[in-house]
Amino acid sequence: MRSNPCPKCQSTMTEGFVLTERHGMLALLSWSRGTPRKGWFGVRQGSGKPIEISTWRCQRCGFLENYARD
Ligand SMILES: [Zn+2]
Repeated sequence: MRSNPCPKCQSTMTEGFVLTERHGMLALLSWSRGTPRKGWFGVRQGSGKPIEISTWRCQRCGFLENYARD
């Protein structure tokens, strides 16, 4: 995927990803369709397969842009 210029300052953006912690292990953030339903053991998965999020970061101002592509 090519790098789009930062929508805030037009500088170069670098591809990366955002980590979260789940059951003491690092995991990737993912997008899920619908609204979250909370149960006894945390948030339940929405309908459909979650899509991992790739995040682009501006090298100059730090702005983050997320993409959830199949
Ligand atoms: Zn920027």
